[in-house]
Amino acid sequence: MEVTAYVCARYWGISLLFDARRLAQVSMIRNAFSAMSIDRRFSLSVAVALLPVLVLCGRLVVHEWHSYIVADDALYAFQSYRAGLQAIERVSAERGPTNSVLGEDLPTPDARSAKLRLAREESDAAIEKLIEMLQSGHCPACAVELAHIREARDELAAARVNVDALIRLPLAQRRERAVSSAVDGMIKVIPQFAPAIDALAANVVKGDTRALNCLILATLTADLREAAGQLGSHFTATLTARRALGEDDQLAIERTQGRVDQLRELIDAHVRDRSALESTAFDKMNQQYFGEGIAYIAEVRRLASRPGGAGISPAQLADHYVPLMRPVTAFRDQVLDLADTEIRQHRSNALMLLAASALSVFLLLAILLSIATLFRRRVIRPLLDATHVIGAIANGDLTAEIPAARYRGEIKAMFNAIGVLKANSVERQQLERERGRLIHELKAMAETDFLTHLLNRRAFESRARVSCAERNAAEPELALIMFDIDHFKRINDTYGHATGDHALQLVARLCRETCRDSDVVARWGGEEFAVLSRVHDAAEALAIADRLRRKISETRIPCNGGDGFTITASFGVALASACESRDVGRLFRHADRLLYQAKEAGRDRIVADPLGVPSGNA
Ligand code: GH3
Ligand code: MG
Ligand code: MG
Repeated sequence: MEVTAYVCARYWGISLLFDARRLAQVSMIRNAFSAMSIDRRFSLSVAVALLPVLVLCGRLVVHEWHSYIVADDALYAFQSYRAGLQAIERVSAERGPTNSVLGEDLPTPDARSAKLRLAREESDAAIEKLIEMLQSGHCPACAVELAHIREARDELAAARVNVDALIRLPLAQRRERAVSSAVDGMIKVIPQFAPAIDALAANVVKGDTRALNCLILATLTADLREAAGQLGSHFTATLTARRALGEDDQLAIERTQGRVDQLRELIDAHVRDRSALESTAFDKMNQQYFGEGIAYIAEVRRLASRPGGAGISPAQLADHYVPLMRPVTAFRDQVLDLADTEIRQHRSNALMLLAASALSVFLLLAILLSIATLFRRRVIRPLLDATHVIGAIANGDLTAEIPAARYRGEIKAMFNAIGVLKANSVERQQLERERGRLIHELKAMAETDFLTHLLNRRAFESRARVSCAERNAAEPELALIMFDIDHFKRINDTYGHATGDHALQLVARLCRETCRDSDVVARWGGEEFAVLSRVHDAAEALAIADRLRRKISETRIPCNGGDGFTITASFGVALASACESRDVGRLFRHADRLLYQAKEAGRDRIVADPLGVPSGNA
């Protein structure tokens, strides 16, 4: 019980572990898939979808290819089968001239010998042709059949040796038993072909089952030809010995006759199934062989049953009987021709099916790939392009090109809409820039004096306030220099207001030239100016003020094309440290006081904090 519980616990533990691992793997794959670009995801999905289609298509084509190969092999097997039947027929047919020669006394008539030689050559050629076909690469599994045929060929050669030994003897010395044995030897060769013929027929049927009826019929007809030949051969020994048919002969004839009748019934039954075979050849076989041939054999048998024999030679029998057997062979050839046509038809059907399925598969794959490619080009790509362009617009990059011209229909409409969006964004960006510029200009205007383009009082005060508030003991000194042009009212009165304005602009220019970039210079109001400067000490502030004072007094102000005139200004220089306060108001008031003192003291001079050294004309 405990062991069971332990095993269960282990099993469930491991199962849960595996499940957790599998879940982790699935989620990893899902995450990796989601992280891919839509283009790659689409390509991967198409590949995954195409894989089973490819497998199915591949299977279909391979199946049709296999069917075609089997049909092709069936055709070759049929040709070998036909060659086999022809070989049997030639070997059977060889018995006619053989029997004739066996019944002739020495010297054998040349015509008979020539006929036998020709028949043997034809047999040999038919057997060689069959062996050659079985040896070719088309029938790699025909080794056993080949061995049978070679055996038959050897047996035929041995039977011929017996026949040749007999025909070299005078007719009187040819013992009946020896003749029978020689004839039997020729007959026994035929069954050796049967296994090869059966195997080849099976190969044909494997490739084309519809050929079965024709093959059965052809085999039956070939058997009929053989049985008919044997029927004639049964008389050879008797006719050669010129005696009456014995009991054994009668039995053999009866048996073969029965076989012939049986074969006739079988052939009739199969022909009834195939109306195409109820032809002239079939009628001719019925009429000539089953009619005249069988009747002739019955007559010979009747005659040979008399004491003293039939009184005809085997050659005479062969001359009369063999032509009557030819319609059997002709009918067999007709059956084989029909089978040949059907098997070829089956092979070309298989080839057409193979070609059609290969073409269909090719078309299917081409269509699927085209659809995928078109979808990618017409939907996925535009989507990516649109994403890129919209992203760029959203990030303020309005240089991205809009590829509307590349597309048609809805996609083109989408890109046109994005184009409108971009145009709106460009306009908005321009408006924002313009607004920024205007704000900047307004700000500058709000801080700038319109006449001198120096800072105005408000801007100066605000900067001075900041500088004053940020100042600490470690920093250099902060000096406020204020100056006022002396008797400026007179200038206006004397030279006009415009000249007064010009004088103010000139003073402003002198301030810009004289002061450092770090100094803050402003028009305080009217003809009064202010400079805020970071200096090391009072002396440095004083030096700046004095430099300014000198320049103002030395500069001539042009007037009405004349020499012009000069002006002076009075200065007050206050130090932030002297005020001991971060209050800029106190600093301004202090500087103003010092300026007033300079005015009071006679003008064109500088009054500085007591820490500094006053300087001026006076
Ligand atoms: P003081 O030496 O005492 O400073 O004498 P003042 O004449 O310079 O001083 P007052 O305050 O009596 O006169 C200042 C004059 O400055 C009055 C005004 O007409 C003139 N003024 C103020 N602003 C401007 C301006 O923008 N343009 C011109 N042309 N004159 C101005
Ligand atoms: Mg003045
Ligand atoms: Mg003034």
